Amino acid sequence: MKADIVICGGAVIGSAIAWFLEDLGFDGEIVIVERDPSFANSSTALSASGIRQQFSQAINVQISRFGVDFIKSAPDRWGVDLNLHEQGYLYLANTESGAQVLRQNHAVQVENGADTLLLDPAQLAAQFPHLNVHDLTLGSFGPSGEGWFDNMGLLNGFRQTSDTKRIVDDITGLTLTNNKVQSVQLASGGTLSCGVFINAAGPNAASIAAMAGIELPVEPRKRTNFMFDCANSPPPTVPLMIDPTGVWCRPEGQHFLTGCCPTDDGPVDPDDFTPDHTQFEEIIWPALAARSVNFEAIKASRFWAGHYAYNTLDQNAVTGRHPEISNFFFANGFSGHGLQQAPAVGRAIAELVTAGSYQTLNLSPLGFERILSKTPFEEKCVI
Ligand SMILES: Cc1cc2nc3c(=O)[nH]c(=O)nc-3n(C[C@H](O)[C@H](O)[C@H](O)COP(=O)(O)OP(=O)(O)OC[C@H]3O[C@@H](n4cnc5c(N)ncnc54)[C@H](O)[C@@H]3O)c2cc1C
Repeated sequence: MKADIVICGGAVIGSAIAWFLEDLGFDGEIVIVERDPSFANSSTALSASGIRQQFSQAINVQISRFGVDFIKSAPDRWGVDLNLHEQGYLYLANTESGAQVLRQNHAVQVENGADTLLLDPAQLAAQFPHLNVHDLTLGSFGPSGEGWFDNMGLLNGFRQTSDTKRIVDDITGLTLTNNKVQSVQLASGGTLSCGVFINAAGPNAASIAAMAGIELPVEPRKRTNFMFDCANSPPPTVPLMIDPTGVWCRPEGQHFLTGCCPTDDGPVDPDDFTPDHTQFEEIIWPALAARSVNFEAIKASRFWAGHYAYNTLDQNAVTGRHPEISNFFFANGFSGHGLQQAPAVGRAIAELVTAGSYQTLNLSPLGFERILSKTPFEEKCVI
């Protein structure tokens, strides 16, 4: 079998790339190879589904601004409302150095058109009376362009392609000739020759890159999400809060959703999706109870674990063409913010493949060159 473009992984990133390739008028054969069309263990399906403008790198602010516009215009495009709850993110700092980081990030965000406000403790208390602000030095709040939305709705929208072929199979090897991916081996025994190969394999991205002899510093890291109920709930209109402890929390209908970074964070077995229950009792509940009297009596009702595709160099995406293997493209390492980046990255990779260069947003800072030279392009706002 033969294809002009083979995409490994058909969740939100792979499907976004295919959708934009078609949208830009690419008329060659696109094949997505996806080993699990239920997407049950994909990051896309297990995501907390947030979008924010509050990043430390200008390009990430621009990517999310593109994303939020795209999400808002889904009803016109697909006839589907992606249910954006534009309730904002609220970052809290409790030290002077933490406040300084929020001020620096704020300058970058505002310069790039984000609607972020800095709030002192008195302003925080007035606007968010459910919070205990006595220890806080500053807050950073985005009243628009931030919130959460329907993750599977976005995936299903991007799956509305007309000519892209979808194969259910597992990519098990790549054959290279003269520094080009020539063909893709499939677990079923077949071979697919390709003109362009795109790695959109999520937390499995490093093993796909390794098939081409490429070392990609992306590993699966487990994150457990907990849904909980409060005896005395704050209003469902409160923003997504990021406590100085790193614990985050947001409304989910009549419930709340929360999570944190594990204390022993590191790579996990690709098949390990066991939720880490101890986090709720030992890290999350104490932090939330200290932050709000409303969170003193809470009970977890649902929980699940998913994998970040964690870029150990700088917690930022790796996008674009490999400098030597000229038909190998990356869309990897999103480190917990890839759902919201799917529209902009999908479009950017489609532009790079069809036009040879980025046209809408210049994602060059996220290129593989920095991985080769081990020069971090660090994102400080990783939740
Ligand atoms: C708990 C959690 C919370 C998150 N919260 C947010 C958030 O609030 N906001 C946000 O923007 N992002 C968030 N993310 C991150 C976001 O979900 C991901 O960055 C995004 O979904 C990445 O999409 P993807 O298509 O690259 O990867 P995935 O969704 O993981 O898809 C990769 C696909 O590749 C397939 N695949 C892998 N290897 C092969 C192979 N060899 N052959 C064939 N197919 C293969 C897999 O089956 C899978 O379907 C969160 C992630 C997690 C786990």
